[in-house]
Amino acid sequence: MIRKSVDRLHPYVPGEQPKDPSIIKLNTNENPYPPSPAVTQSLLRNFDLASLRKYPDPVALELREAIAALHGADAAQVIVGNGSDELLAYCTRAFVEPAGSIGYFEPSYSLYPVLSDIADVQTKPMPLMDDLTWQMTPDYKADLFFITQPNAPTSMAHDKETIRAFCESFRGVVVVDEAYVDFAEFDCLDLAMSLPNVLVMRTFSKSYSLAGIRLGYAIGPEPLIEALFKIKDSYNLNGLTQAAGLAAIKDQHWMKSNVAKVVATRERIAAHLSERGFDVLPSQTNFLFIKPADETAEALFRRLRERKIIARYFPEGVTSDFLRVTVGTDEEMDAFLAAL
Ligand code: PMP
Repeated sequence: MIRKSVDRLHPYVPGEQPKDPSIIKLNTNENPYPPSPAVTQSLLRNFDLASLRKYPDPVALELREAIAALHGADAAQVIVGNGSDELLAYCTRAFVEPAGSIGYFEPSYSLYPVLSDIADVQTKPMPLMDDLTWQMTPDYKADLFFITQPNAPTSMAHDKETIRAFCESFRGVVVVDEAYVDFAEFDCLDLAMSLPNVLVMRTFSKSYSLAGIRLGYAIGPEPLIEALFKIKDSYNLNGLTQAAGLAAIKDQHWMKSNVAKVVATRERIAAHLSERGFDVLPSQTNFLFIKPADETAEALFRRLRERKIIARYFPEGVTSDFLRVTVGTDEEMDAFLAAL
């Protein structure tokens, strides 16, 4: 009755969303600061609730034009989705043959293997080296490859020239998943603008403080975007999200000042932790990937949990020595340091 591939599927496990408001939540890389006041304005004052009677714009043109303008691209090079997760799933449908395969680095975003299993195609993970750089085997092939850049959960950026060289030589589609790029020193947009097989994926969930509205976009060559349009759900982005996204993208100043605050806190906490003997990977994201000196990461995770601070622990493989800690407000991070 249930399709075999679904029956044996291990679904993606999202981070915990506790109901207790006294819990300090450092587990899902949300932004600790509120979204732009322009978003509140657009939803509470300007949005015509009576318009919910009608379907939203199926192609979200106004929002796509604003995103395209921000990046000096054309709206035809942009597609928006219900979170970048939706668009990542579309990529597995549009760019992979039934007998094909999907690649990604290990460790990286743990959704990719799940999407590959849902598509019921071959999964081709490529383990990162001990220093978290990569070395592709010469005969490596796949229809689609996901690069999380900067990487999660390791927080480190891959080398740009290595990414470029890989994109140039790879025969399939490369999706550079830049969920955390606003916290980083460089991006790969130029690759999506110049190479026929590269898409960049972005989200409003982190730097724009809008994880709750579910909005992401892919940008890149028109033929790839056109292919995603062909298979997308007719009304994949609801009207409220389109309005909120438009307001948020126009307020770059708000986003950038929140990012600057998060980055400043990140650097302060990273320095503290290093002084206390933690191994702290150099983060280009809004989280830290840390290895305690004198206890296991799992023990630390539990100890923090008892003090109502939740981080994210990935118990399998190389990540099991580390704890992923989202950068919260200065107050939250001071509470975290105190709890240590
Ligand atoms: N890519 C990466 C690397 C992520 O960590 C996340 C957030 N879990 C996403 C994509 C998904 O983002 P969104 O909220 O836009 O679906």
